[in-house]
Amino acid sequence: MSKTAHHKNQQRTAIVYFGAEREDYLKRAEADDPREFLDFVQQPLRAQLGAEKHRDSCPDLSRYTGHSKRSRSLYGWSGPKTDLPIRRVRCCGCRTVFTVLPSFVCRYRRQDSDCLAKLLTLSLSMDLSQRQTALIYSWGDSERCWTPGWVWSLLQWLGTLLPVSWLLLRLGLTPPECVLSDEKFAHLDGLTIYLFTISQGELIWYIQKLEQVTQAAFEPAIALFLTTVTQEARDLQLMSEDEAYTPTTVTTDGWEQSQDAWRTECPDSHLLECRWHGHNRIDSSLEDYQLTHPDVAEETLNKLKKQIAHLWAAPSRAKFSQRLRRLKEAWGEDKILARRFEILKKKRFLFTEYLNFPEASPYLAPLDRSLRFLDEKLQTFGQFRQETTVNTTLNAWAIVNNMRSFLPDAKRAGQSLAELFGAKIQGLPWMEAVNLCTVGRLSDLLPATGSG
Ligand SMILES: [Zn+2]
Repeated sequence: MSKTAHHKNQQRTAIVYFGAEREDYLKRAEADDPREFLDFVQQPLRAQLGAEKHRDSCPDLSRYTGHSKRSRSLYGWSGPKTDLPIRRVRCCGCRTVFTVLPSFVCRYRRQDSDCLAKLLTLSLSMDLSQRQTALIYSWGDSERCWTPGWVWSLLQWLGTLLPVSWLLLRLGLTPPECVLSDEKFAHLDGLTIYLFTISQGELIWYIQKLEQVTQAAFEPAIALFLTTVTQEARDLQLMSEDEAYTPTTVTTDGWEQSQDAWRTECPDSHLLECRWHGHNRIDSSLEDYQLTHPDVAEETLNKLKKQIAHLWAAPSRAKFSQRLRRLKEAWGEDKILARRFEILKKKRFLFTEYLNFPEASPYLAPLDRSLRFLDEKLQTFGQFRQETTVNTTLNAWAIVNNMRSFLPDAKRAGQSLAELFGAKIQGLPWMEAVNLCTVGRLSDLLPATGSG
């Protein structure tokens, strides 16, 4: 299928939530008389089929009539495939025909959303290889046979559904005020690549591969993140057409090329440098100092360490500068320490800005927690490596990381990161929520809850 035909078809599919049980869908879709089905779908179709999906001259986007019914086969997590009725409707204004999928059926997939969610979780967050995932799938029924390559194409399918930032906005989140930004080494087929990531705590908003970690490489990545969020925030009317998204604070590691890129792309944002990284560098200067002064008295060394701890705990920027001056007066004769003090002076804003923004994280640790399994994961992606698909796979990984429920033994069992950060998914299984978000804002597509 050509790319345009594919795109056009995608536009001519609607996804509708019929209720928590499959029965809620079947009783409407199977009935010989389509009226109840048609009554039910009018509102969700109006919510997602904008003018761009109709013919140019369509005089009335608000009414749909029955067109046809066909059968489609669907696999669940286990058991043989089942046949499901799928209805098509026609716009009364321009006669365009749309296929109506229930929210547990995803475009171009032969498995239901429950089965897809399980396969994606196995492959992307439980550290199983594609081969293992495919094998487990084949246990569900004797007629199934899958290859690892099919699991790969499933990941590609998820990764191209929508950018993870759009998903979060459509789930009801607002663009993040305080972000963390980091670039991690990863290994892909023996090559070093960098994963440039932007998160809100542990929640991933953006991830892409970088070949290099230079300012010139960071800038377009940051710009793409900002415009992607801005575009969707405007579409969802979270932002007016003349506003553009920039975060209030950005917590970075100590890499200056990345900090400079953020300064260029977001001149109004306040930069923080991760205090854990900063403290580590002081510690390594202290080690160097000890090595070059093997005779230094324990007591003297403790005094120095105490004074540095005092500096690090400064309650204001003025105090930080004052304490740093005292350190220089007392220890500045030494070359190693003098160099460290110079860096601390240069970075005094980066290391004290957290005092002005209590809601910002002064550490990158939350982002590290989310990324900890990804490098290993890339090793198994490697066997199907194609340069152009790495970012798609990373986007798929980010979607699953944000959406899967924590396992039963976790502190936040049953919840997902996205929900922890405010997504309202009303108990919907996550792949069904993602499926609905491909056509619009989730709250516009679910029936209003009684409590209002
Ligand atoms: Zn129309």
